[in-house]
Amino acid sequence: MSTAIVVGGGPNGLAAAVALAREGVQVTVLEAADEIGGGARSSEAILPGLLHDHCSAFHPMAVGSTFLNSLSLERYGLSWRWPEIDCAHPLDGGDAGLLYRSVTGTAAGLGADRSRWLLAFGRPSASFDTLAEDIMGPLLRIPRHPLTLARFGLPTLLPAAEVARGFSTEKARALFGGVAAHAFRPLHYPLSSAIGLGIITAGHRHGWPVAAGGSGSITAALAALLADLGGKIETGTRVRAAPELPAADVTLFDLAPGAIAGILGDRLPARAARAYRRYRHGPGAFKADFAVEGGVPWTNPDAHRAGTVHLGGAFAEIAATERDIHAGRMPERPFVLVGQQYLADPGRSAGNVHPVWTYAHVPHGYTGDATEAIVAQIERFAPGFRDRIVGRAVRTTTQMAAYNPNYVGGDIVTGAKNIRQVVFGPRTTFSPYQVGVPGMYICSAATPPGPGVHGMCGANAAADALRYLRRHQ
Ligand SMILES: Cc1cc2nc3c(=O)[nH]c(=O)nc-3n(C[C@H](O)[C@H](O)[C@H](O)COP(=O)(O)OP(=O)(O)OC[C@H]3O[C@@H](n4cnc5c(N)ncnc54)[C@H](O)[C@@H]3O)c2cc1C
Repeated sequence: MSTAIVVGGGPNGLAAAVALAREGVQVTVLEAADEIGGGARSSEAILPGLLHDHCSAFHPMAVGSTFLNSLSLERYGLSWRWPEIDCAHPLDGGDAGLLYRSVTGTAAGLGADRSRWLLAFGRPSASFDTLAEDIMGPLLRIPRHPLTLARFGLPTLLPAAEVARGFSTEKARALFGGVAAHAFRPLHYPLSSAIGLGIITAGHRHGWPVAAGGSGSITAALAALLADLGGKIETGTRVRAAPELPAADVTLFDLAPGAIAGILGDRLPARAARAYRRYRHGPGAFKADFAVEGGVPWTNPDAHRAGTVHLGGAFAEIAATERDIHAGRMPERPFVLVGQQYLADPGRSAGNVHPVWTYAHVPHGYTGDATEAIVAQIERFAPGFRDRIVGRAVRTTTQMAAYNPNYVGGDIVTGAKNIRQVVFGPRTTFSPYQVGVPGMYICSAATPPGPGVHGMCGANAAADALRYLRRHQ
């Protein structure tokens, strides 16, 4: 029987482990933390009975993941819950852009931009499942559906600012800009529209659901399936150097490239070592969870029904704050994401006290405390919020990196989304999962298709590893 070691038990590490184990490989996952899950964990971090997601919260890419869908994870307790409105983007003055799962419903709320929104997202979202076959893996390969890919792909080369300019209302511009900001990239840079266009398109196909019982249910389901397939997980086991790696036919790393260079040292070919050491990380996230009596008192009535609320005002303001954090300056009013998962999954609340998940975009390695900036940004659109807070838990960029070493400097998307890293992954090669040592692979969100809980990086790397095993057994 072939053997595999997977270092790191995040969604991609677990996906890789399952993909190998279901082909009969004996897999062991080594996880540094005391529990598996990486960026998909949840706990009662503030008050008993109040369930918070530590990292990932909304999962259009997970419900749309061909790999996760092939596993019937509902057998292991995974189920999805959809908020009424996927995302609200309030503006000063009380109005808000609203993103619904329905593309026509969304367009209908955007006034003069109705037909432009339909033009941008109608056709791509209708063909998202076909499109996913090409965008959920390495970009540099022969596409299965070249026309569909070209139609979707060409606009993604544009800066987000250029795409926003195509809309005439501030509501549509800001709504798009808030989602584009998920890339942690200045919005006037080429390709900065790609993540926004991708997430909105996926959302119009699958919505932005939460996992019932917390995002930890996703990785718990993967771990339970892995156990059924005979796989083993060792938590509290941080791999620091190559000699600590147990012997195995293949080894997969669910890690940031720099960490792999540190572990493998001289065993990595010089070119790969150089690329991994020079791998660029982007700005950071400052996370703040709140226990809020009665929920957030939004001025905009629809924000009370939205799973996600993006706070950053008009497109130009978001563009300015993203430019600031990229340049290492902390903006006075950073872009803030608010999650109200309990609206879709009420079991996460304790009576009338609700878990409110937030994070702010901050400079890479920002050492300050952004809690007050987050509270002030929420107060701007929900006066009286501060008085409803009954508990809080924060994680600075340093604490984020200590919690999960993949989040270097608080970079929660595992690498800057610059053109080279988006197109190739961590090094310039047509085989982004191969680290350059036979039988060793990188399977983290630093590889295509990039960040998010979808398991596709893990599944794609495991497919490479299985091909290697077939050739060498
Ligand atoms: C605040 C926040 C919000 C997010 N929101 C969303 C969202 O709403 N939707 C979404 O889809 N995604 C979201 N993400 C991103 C998502 O969580 C990540 O892209 C995803 O978890 C990446 O999975 P991964 O398996 O590649 O790596 P990770 O989830 O980072 O897992 C890596 C694992 O490796 C372990 N590890 C690291 N070093 C070692 C070592 N040396 N030895 C052993 N183990 C090690 C870590 O402890 C960790 O468990 C968010 C992330 C954060 C932090």
